[in-house]
Amino acid sequence: MDVIRLLPDSVANQIAAGEVIQRPASCLKELVENSLDAGATHIRVLVRDAGRTLLQVVDNGTGMSETDARMAFERHATSKIREANDLFALRTMGFRGEALPSISAVAHVEVQTRTKDNEVGTLLEIAGGEVLNQSICQCPVGTNIKVKDLFYNVPVRRKFLKTDQTELRNLLNAFYHIVLVYPKVQFTFVSDDEVLMDLSASTEKQRIENIFGKGTGRPYTSQLVEVATDTELVSIRGFVGKPESAGKSSQQFFFVNGRFMRHPYFHKAVMTAYSGMLPGDYSPSYFIYFDISPELIDVNIHPTKTEIKFQDEQAVFQILMAAVRESLGKFNVAPSLDFNRSGEIEMPVPASGQVAAPKVTFDPTYNPFKTRQTTQPSVPSSWQNLYTNRSPLSSGIPEERDVEPIIPQLLDTEVSDLRLFQYDDRYIIFPAEGGLMFVNQHRAHTCVLYYRLKRQMENKHGICQQLLFQEEITLTPDEMVLMASLEGELQNIGFDVVQFSKQSYAIVGVPAALNGTGGVEVLREILAEVGVKQTRVEDEWRDKIALVVARDAAIPNGRHLTDEQMRELLRELWQLPIYRRTPDGKVVMSALTDGEIRKRF
Ligand code: ADP
Ligand code: MG
Repeated sequence: MDVIRLLPDSVANQIAAGEVIQRPASCLKELVENSLDAGATHIRVLVRDAGRTLLQVVDNGTGMSETDARMAFERHATSKIREANDLFALRTMGFRGEALPSISAVAHVEVQTRTKDNEVGTLLEIAGGEVLNQSICQCPVGTNIKVKDLFYNVPVRRKFLKTDQTELRNLLNAFYHIVLVYPKVQFTFVSDDEVLMDLSASTEKQRIENIFGKGTGRPYTSQLVEVATDTELVSIRGFVGKPESAGKSSQQFFFVNGRFMRHPYFHKAVMTAYSGMLPGDYSPSYFIYFDISPELIDVNIHPTKTEIKFQDEQAVFQILMAAVRESLGKFNVAPSLDFNRSGEIEMPVPASGQVAAPKVTFDPTYNPFKTRQTTQPSVPSSWQNLYTNRSPLSSGIPEERDVEPIIPQLLDTEVSDLRLFQYDDRYIIFPAEGGLMFVNQHRAHTCVLYYRLKRQMENKHGICQQLLFQEEITLTPDEMVLMASLEGELQNIGFDVVQFSKQSYAIVGVPAALNGTGGVEVLREILAEVGVKQTRVEDEWRDKIALVVARDAAIPNGRHLTDEQMRELLRELWQLPIYRRTPDGKVVMSALTDGEIRKRF
């Protein structure tokens, strides 16, 4: 008996949709790319409920004839290539003819479209791949497509979507990827009747300013220098951030032949060009546009794939690195930064900062959260316990690579009997059996505060200190969305923030641990930490927020501590579930073993 059957188109399209249309953001990408391919000079995007209920794209492009409008929704129907060879000379964004049939397989789609040669336009309604209605209509030249109730017939997909705020950020990111390549095209983005972005036709630089400039203080683009190089293999243009403008959050974009791409290897090239100019966890912004013959890259790009394979990656790496280096040199932005002993850089106050970097004073008696214990816990009797009985805090922690071969035994004494001293105003040192222990005071205190803050967040008991003068923090559209989704957790840790304007929040209160300082700075760090493009896991937000606040509130290195302050810190440290490393994996304590000491003599 024959068993093979051809799938009905409706089923095949749903399967294809699973690949091409994963979330509202991929739908937006496909629709806007179609508008660009149709030569539109003005494109409006309107979304409702982060694209769940409505995603609409209105363009003034060529429009479609009645027959083409109908054809557009057939599988593999495209006006953009006719034969396989055309693939190698692609100048359009789309070419597979998959997007529209995929979208219409999983949503209610309504299109109005008219070409300039026609007096009247076509109205087409399709749902679940079935044409419901086709008629003539009055409409301007161009295409107006509404995608309603995305995934209404695919509950699994619907379930996979994140909160509205996360999906809205995804939409904005997808939008950035396109509008940064087409500065000559006018774009508008409206979410729930609110205009989030209105970008007039401009130059690339002005477009960057319009998106990421915050309209206050120094222009964003004054922090960028131009990159330009032309070789036989590739031409590279764009902008990179001056080293002093680098931060923990930065805008980083690569484009190749007009498409956004991710490229970790080329990212490394840029970072290498900056080597020695930035402290460890800072990174520069960059907007880099590659132009390369389509034959030298993998052209059969999957619509959702943003990694692109270059034939000669090493050569491009070298060219890119040299180009960025040259720009940094030419614009005389050689490092003029102040390295302190550990190689960390004291960063200047950012342009927008009306607020000085957080300054925290450590008061060992101030401890509103602690339930005083009558008997002080003793030091774990064996140093090995510190290494063995502890499970790693989270999967994000690096492997323990630097465990000393011989582990000194902690002397079997109470913390109160330990002979302690502080070295270099940053290490607490005391003798242990088999060696000398070093504890970094800043990291130790970070651990202590981290667990305390997390407990408060879990109990929704963050202690807030109201500010005498509220501070304002200005944000980009996607940061505004992120901020809205973080409000709850921020409140849990003791922040009191309210939306102030379309692009700013007012900080009314900060977690008490911060002693009333650094609200803007700490919030920026939090946004950077949770906003990293790949980490959209909302469950990790709490940990990250707690860590940022802990880090900022912890005793800094370079602060002199009294004997009692050191003891108190060690006592609190010993009580933690994990204290050998900070939650982000940095070493808190380390030992100089007897063997190592003897070798010196
Ligand atoms: P592809 O873009 O890969 O060709 P799509 O399914 O996205 O496939 O679109 C199918 C066809 O519909 C396109 O080739 C184009 O001819 C037409 N089309 C889609 N959107 C528009 C638009 N906004 N304006 C004009 N034509 C369009
Ligand atoms: Mg397309």
